[in-house]
Amino acid sequence: MPYGYHGKILRVDLSKGSTWVEEKDEQFYRRYMGGGALGAYYVLQNVKPGTDAFDPQNVIVFGGSVVTGVRIAGFTRHSVTSVSPLTGGILDSEAGGFWGRELKAAGYDAIVVEGKAPKPVYLWINDGEVEIKDAGHLWGKVTGEAQDIIRQENGDQRIRVLGIGPAGENMVRYACILNELRDANGRGGLGAVMGSKNLKAIAVRGNNFPEVADPETVKKIARSFVKKFKDFGTGRLRQLGTGGTPIAQNSTSQLPTHNWKTGYFENADKISAQTFHETMFAGDEGCFACPVVCKKAVKAEEPYKIDPRYGGPEYETLAALGSYTGISDINAVAKGHELCNKYSLDTISTGAVIAFAMDCYENGILSKEDADGLELKFGNASVLVPLIEKIARREGVGDLLAEGVKRIAAKLGPESEKLAVHCKGLEFPAHEPRVKRSLALAYGTTPIGADHMASEHDPNIAPTAPDLVADRLKPLGINERVELDDLGSKKVSFFYQTSIIYSMLTCLDICMFCMAPSRPINYNELVDAVDAVTGWETSLLELAKVGERRLLMMRAFNNACGMTKEDDLLPPRMHEPLASGDTKGNKIDKKEYRQALETLYELSGWDEDGRPRNSKMIALDLDWVGERLKAN
Ligand code: SF4
Repeated sequence: MPYGYHGKILRVDLSKGSTWVEEKDEQFYRRYMGGGALGAYYVLQNVKPGTDAFDPQNVIVFGGSVVTGVRIAGFTRHSVTSVSPLTGGILDSEAGGFWGRELKAAGYDAIVVEGKAPKPVYLWINDGEVEIKDAGHLWGKVTGEAQDIIRQENGDQRIRVLGIGPAGENMVRYACILNELRDANGRGGLGAVMGSKNLKAIAVRGNNFPEVADPETVKKIARSFVKKFKDFGTGRLRQLGTGGTPIAQNSTSQLPTHNWKTGYFENADKISAQTFHETMFAGDEGCFACPVVCKKAVKAEEPYKIDPRYGGPEYETLAALGSYTGISDINAVAKGHELCNKYSLDTISTGAVIAFAMDCYENGILSKEDADGLELKFGNASVLVPLIEKIARREGVGDLLAEGVKRIAAKLGPESEKLAVHCKGLEFPAHEPRVKRSLALAYGTTPIGADHMASEHDPNIAPTAPDLVADRLKPLGINERVELDDLGSKKVSFFYQTSIIYSMLTCLDICMFCMAPSRPINYNELVDAVDAVTGWETSLLELAKVGERRLLMMRAFNNACGMTKEDDLLPPRMHEPLASGDTKGNKIDKKEYRQALETLYELSGWDEDGRPRNSKMIALDLDWVGERLKAN
């Protein structure tokens, strides 16, 4: 009997309107565990490389891990995996909240959806029973309205709903998926994949959470984690959430501003949580069983009415809608955030696209006429709300902007391509590779494109890192301090090793705000927790192998889709100097970056073209992948 998981994967074919249950054995769960690894397994098994994200043959996989949903802080996330409408390669994205636990309580570890429903539907999963229900009356509704109706018509306010708004239905290429109206599987366009399948939502409810192997030890670990958080002092994260970060980033001139021209934004204080705490704070929120409650809801009546049910802007949103665009009006930024959650738009890509359009406008590449009469100047707060509305509905210029930076640049021509900041088609999150140099490798080589959650960031091994933080890297064998802007072999090794650890946490769907390397829960405690839940005798080595397996499966799929080492390169702006602030002049040297790539390929077991070597695939029990990708 499995502990911590059911051994059951729900399969759904929307074209046929059929569902069935696939049972998997312990060997499968130990090899893939959940999250992005389990999702990648199903994508590789079912999708022919090169399949368009919106083709009904694409699949979309929803689920947590073998430990998701146990009452331990941070063990609460779930992942969604598919082909990305932005990159054309494989994509996974995690979300916090409560949905992952509830899916398990409803009787399944994961859901694999294929095909396309002939008309809008939603899935209703209630204690193992599955229904594909009509969603004609929900289509066109924002996420909150759809959630309310689903709960009401199924007679239970405790139903957890994951779904899309109009941006997903209109297949905006960076539409996201929301649960609880504020937790997003944000990146890469997963909401658009749901829209392409006419799948509005997945509602889950249940009382069938699997038993854990050692309930007393799980309780003891949970209590010890809570104490560790108290001792560690989650101070700023608890008080301000990540919204306190713009001021910190700006103080070291690494807050992406004006479409990445500079790292210094003179109005950073106006778009920080410190400011909205004084004016529109509406309460603390968090995920299942987590004492940190790092999410901060906001509300307002004017100049914009802002509904606190949609949460509040976190760091990435404040930067993307704020400093990227030069907009310092916190009301406009907070309203923009609320609209993104209502319509199901990724706030990072939305802000990045608008900032890119502003840059094109200021450089004479996009005219006022092209922009439906809007003046797309940096800092013009009055355009933010209308642009988000247009993007979500694909109206006027919104239809162009809904395509994402890479495709917009291809349409506007070579001059705009110099201003386009993305890797593989995924717009940049708000961390500056010209300052934190290993992020260049993270953005360039991570299979989903520019991803800031792919590895540890450079400040934690910099000479200035507090010992307490740097010490948490020592169990990985990382003992030496390296300067922030160093991209030599030591830094490449730091990236390589921590990328495997981060990928491991993604496969376990555990919140990185709780775990080492950057937070107090250490690796031994993680292993103990997995053992207590599953009854296995695991090790950090076994768990890390799962993380590496995910990365290699994704890399192999992207290679089979036609991606080459050229897709690991950075956009032109990263090789241009930052324009102002203390980091003025910082840039990434092309030759140094190429050398770092070569070192990384060797460390990772990839050949000189960036393809995983057969020996590496065999070492990770992935010898089936090559044949499978050829056969698909
Ligand atoms: S730290 Fe924040 S994001 Fe992470 S589990 Fe806790 S409340 Fe959720």
